Amino acid sequence: MSRLADSRYDVLVVGGGAMGSAAAWQLARGGRAVLLLERFGAGHIYGASHGGVRIFRYGYEDPTYVRMVQAALPLWRELESDAGETLLELTGALDHGPERDIDVLAAAYRECGVRHERLTAEDAAQRWPGLRFDTAVLAQADAGRTKAAATVTALHRTAAAHGADVRTDTQVLAIEWKADEVIVRTENEKFSAPVAVVAVGAWAESLLALLDIPLPELRTTEEQVFHFPPIEEHPGGNPWPSFMHRGPRIWYGLQTPGEGIKLGEHHAGAACDPEPGRRSFTIDPAARDRVRRYAAEWLPGVDPEPVTETTCLYTTTPTEDFVIDRFGPIVVAAGFSGHGFKFTPLIGARLADLAVGGLSRREDRAGDARWV
Ligand SMILES: Cc1cc2nc3c(=O)[nH]c(=O)nc-3n(C[C@H](O)[C@H](O)[C@H](O)COP(=O)(O)OP(=O)(O)OC[C@H]3O[C@@H](n4cnc5c(N)ncnc54)[C@H](O)[C@@H]3O)c2cc1C
Repeated sequence: MSRLADSRYDVLVVGGGAMGSAAAWQLARGGRAVLLLERFGAGHIYGASHGGVRIFRYGYEDPTYVRMVQAALPLWRELESDAGETLLELTGALDHGPERDIDVLAAAYRECGVRHERLTAEDAAQRWPGLRFDTAVLAQADAGRTKAAATVTALHRTAAAHGADVRTDTQVLAIEWKADEVIVRTENEKFSAPVAVVAVGAWAESLLALLDIPLPELRTTEEQVFHFPPIEEHPGGNPWPSFMHRGPRIWYGLQTPGEGIKLGEHHAGAACDPEPGRRSFTIDPAARDRVRRYAAEWLPGVDPEPVTETTCLYTTTPTEDFVIDRFGPIVVAAGFSGHGFKFTPLIGARLADLAVGGLSRREDRAGDARWV
């Protein structure tokens, strides 16, 4: 008979990817007794937060998202100083392509006070000769890349340093809520606390199914990521910027130090079941051909033969907005739709607010409205 561990905790956090770990860090450094449960081992590759880097950029037409990126920046710096390591590097970020209305982007930047520069395709190619452009380009200097797996590791470490109980290889099998407490059950133990944060990425639907929590449709896809060897580390004397190229397809890329130039197609992966035993982890040859052709045509600064390739999960809502809300004693974070990482420490703060502030999103709509 598994035993009910006495409720030593103020908050249980289920899911030790970017969002759950950020919530545990924010809660623990706020003095809360936190238990973080992650089903796989530290540094696992089964979810959405592994690998070297993620783009940190302001490139949203909606000023609400732009302000959220602005709000995330100082929190990244707080995490870095707490962790004693660099996790966000401002290498610059670019938006270009025929399907990108950079006038609308520029208007959002002006409204929010984001430093930006508009360049012709020729001037941009001069400054970043590793890339090719056929439209005007909008550059953001205060943007760049965040480390991915290293951020999750730093969050686990700093949360533990603030007293959190961080347990990996501990799968939550069931969650139930009674009166004023939440009980989570693992293979060998049960834990209870007044509130739980559930940030389980692609597993949200299956783990929350019994709790009658209204979630929007969540579509999980297996996205394909490739790295190409740069011909020069700093073509034109400038670091490789992060970039989004919107044409008939949406391409994104950035430099992963020590691994090469990361390149991927946004929202091009096939729908999949996230469960490792029911997922292929294989690269789609057609995707590999497309990315090779893209690299050969648009990245003169790389050898167009990929050196590494991997898969990673998107869990996408119909509007690509995030699910961040509280239902009774359960705080839910899901549906980061392939663009959540840049907000990680901010979302951690929101989840902590919802967990210990006791407010549901609906009561606190005064803030950002980009949560479905
Ligand atoms: C290829 C790719 C490129 C991306 N590029 C960018 C980018 O450039 N910029 C950007 O901002 N964002 C980007 N993103 C999106 C970003 O990485 C995600 O939004 C973010 O990582 C989501 O974090 P998460 O914590 O919600 O999910 P996850 O990292 O998947 O975390 C969920 C965790 O819950 C655990 N879990 C599940 N079930 C249980 C259970 N029963 N018990 C215990 N633990 C459980 C899982 O093991 C997992 O560790 C990209 C994503 C991908 C896949």
